[in-house]
Amino acid sequence: MKKTTNRIQFIPKMYCGIFGHNYQVTRKVTYYVKEYTCNHCKKQLTTNSNGNLIELTPKFKEINAILERIHKKRIQRLKIKTITSSIC
Ligand SMILES: [Zn+2]
Repeated sequence: MKKTTNRIQFIPKMYCGIFGHNYQVTRKVTYYVKEYTCNHCKKQLTTNSNGNLIELTPKFKEINAILERIHKKRIQRLKIKTITSSIC
């Protein structure tokens, strides 16, 4: 039998109902917060501040965008710090 993982003939939502969601990381917001999307039904999840997985609502998308911005700034600042400390 051929493997048909990539070409599911079922209605995606029905497939997830039977086999469960197949989440993949679609975006890394910070070290701890990530966004996941189901391969089949495109349902999106994210990690909240308690480390639990919750549905990715527009509100959480907004929060994640802010978190990502802060996180990137922090990384940049750390990089600059290490560069300057290695020079001095
Ligand atoms: Zn799904």
